[in-house]
Amino acid sequence: GFNCGIVGLPNVGKSTLFNALTKSGIDAENFPFCTIEPNVGIVPMPDPRLDKLAEIVKPQKVLPTTMEFVDIAGLVAGASKGEGLGNKFLANIRETQAIAHVVRCFDNDNVIHVANQVDPRSDIETINLELALADLDTVEKASQRLVRSVKGGDKDAIATKAILDRIQPHVAEGLPLRSFGLSEEEQRQVKSFGFLTLKPTMYIANVNEDGFENNPYLDIVNEIAAEEGALVVPVCNQLEAEIAELDDEERSMFLSEMGMDEPGLDRVIRAGYSLLGLQTYFTAGVKEVRAWTVKEGATAPEAAGVIHTDFQKGFIRAEVVAYEDFVSLGGEQAAKDAGKWRLEGKEYIVKDGDVVHFRFNV
Ligand code: GDP
Repeated sequence: GFNCGIVGLPNVGKSTLFNALTKSGIDAENFPFCTIEPNVGIVPMPDPRLDKLAEIVKPQKVLPTTMEFVDIAGLVAGASKGEGLGNKFLANIRETQAIAHVVRCFDNDNVIHVANQVDPRSDIETINLELALADLDTVEKASQRLVRSVKGGDKDAIATKAILDRIQPHVAEGLPLRSFGLSEEEQRQVKSFGFLTLKPTMYIANVNEDGFENNPYLDIVNEIAAEEGALVVPVCNQLEAEIAELDDEERSMFLSEMGMDEPGLDRVIRAGYSLLGLQTYFTAGVKEVRAWTVKEGATAPEAAGVIHTDFQKGFIRAEVVAYEDFVSLGGEQAAKDAGKWRLEGKEYIVKDGDVVHFRFNV
């Protein structure tokens, strides 16, 4: 599956966010093949299109697609030097595909700040420094390992070593690699090192209920993110935790009273999704209407492989109706009658919202 690690200094609201995400979470029994670790939340991807499809198909079951959030607590200054449980946490971050960096943008005298004052710039720098120093360690170890092959004239090793030499001073200064400007080709060359500061990152600005506007802390986070080309999602984690406790009916009443279209969590989940370059396609049978996640640019066989590897291996073709056609015409048969039902082969690039039926050999 696809996942996003939640990092940040202590007391910034990470657990509050994580608990809200897991509370709003799904019935684990629908996903019997997932082992759920205590620090992993499997969160349904909010998608109103799924309900629209269900209205038409009237299936026995409706299943959203999901994204995993991993609570990575305990990242403190000195983690890269093995301070606290530093190394374990850095190893946890290494396993995630994207990073949600929670930044405290609220005042609350009852909640102690680890550095005694709310200061988003310094907080962000503290975390980024630890991640960059972990990357520096990776750079130095990798460089050492390459020395012999470089001497032997190995072209790949020479090219990789040259990149490592260029990025070394950048990470040594505590700067994230995502602001270094590596080309796509260079990024591919260093991919296997799993650099932490090269992972797609978003800042979750944790604000008070009234802190979405005229909030100097939030302005600072926006400024830093703009410099780095990172994403910012302002959320009031405390409010989200309260919303997550409500049942569906109470929730929609509460949201409309607050003048909100949707829980702020939905924005967090969607941001994680787009950070990873993901999109959704649907299968719509009478037994089950279901959303599935694939990378943008995935081919039809790759998309089939998300359901089952046999679907990919034995792929014959995909029968596709675009979501808009499926809904506006009122289902598969109607789409067929209107000439909107397509047969696609193994070169087909799946589009967001495609309603797909795969044909395959077993
Ligand atoms: P963590 O250490 O980063 O996991 O932080 P927690 O989620 O445990 O939050 C630390 C404290 O801040 C808790 O007492 C929360 O109730 C409080 N808190 C979290 N989010 C907010 C918020 O948006 N506003 C206010 N005022 N307090 C918050």
